[in-house]
Amino acid sequence: MTEAIVSYKDVHKSFGDTEVLTGINLDIKPAERVAVIGPSGSGKTTIIRMLMTLEEPTSGDIIVDGSNLWHMEKNGELVPANEKHLRQVRGDIGMVFQHFNLFPHMTILENCMSAPIHVQKIDKKEASQRSIEMLEKVGLGDKLDNYPSQLSGGQKQRVAMARALVMRPKIMLFDEVTSALDPELVGEVLEVIRDIAKEGEMAMVLVTHEMEFARDIADRVLFLDNGVIAEQGPPAEVLENPTNDRLQSFLHRFR
Ligand code: ADP
Repeated sequence: MTEAIVSYKDVHKSFGDTEVLTGINLDIKPAERVAVIGPSGSGKTTIIRMLMTLEEPTSGDIIVDGSNLWHMEKNGELVPANEKHLRQVRGDIGMVFQHFNLFPHMTILENCMSAPIHVQKIDKKEASQRSIEMLEKVGLGDKLDNYPSQLSGGQKQRVAMARALVMRPKIMLFDEVTSALDPELVGEVLEVIRDIAKEGEMAMVLVTHEMEFARDIADRVLFLDNGVIAEQGPPAEVLENPTNDRLQSFLHRFR
């Protein structure tokens, strides 16, 4: 069996008195594509925000490529991770958000070059080459000097993807990346994700409400409900023949 690139081990997460995740166990293989579906508020975003180090689990462990994300070893003991350790592990992970999160005062080329230069410390020329290549790949090679405000939502989201991919992550996280888009712009963004997936190099975790897309792209679909993974399996099983009652009624809404 291939070793997992990401493992959640009995991960719990509470906000105040509310326990949102009540024991997540999940192994993701390198190059595996996992779609996470479930009712609003079921904790889908929280699962990937913890992987991106934007939320800390209340208990449990998340292992990324062999390293414990939220803990590190010090004098033979496991202690909470410091910023340096988090930064190191986070280097393997790219994330695209619902609301793009581009830097408004930078051109789209500068948006893509910023992290390779400042985080990965690669030289400007290579950062620029890599960024141009990636922007061409997402179909924006003619917009390098534009500012985000001059682009459509779909184009902004494609920049956000190029910006994450320039870092050559081992794992890409997509958090409802089409939810804030006008319906006519959804297709172009999904198309880019399909292209990335075809290359098959990275693990991908996609939180999505696009069931057709999940069916198309995912190796495995997870249904999150009541704080746990209530059902999981290949899309054909989970989406066509769900056994869980709540998954059945959830899917009914998309028919
Ligand atoms: P989903 O992505 O499935 O809609 P989320 O992971 O965004 O769900 O949220 C799960 C639950 O946790 C929701 O009830 C949400 O209100 C709550 N929650 C998420 N983030 C925070 C936060 N930073 N502070 C307090 N509650 C939060």
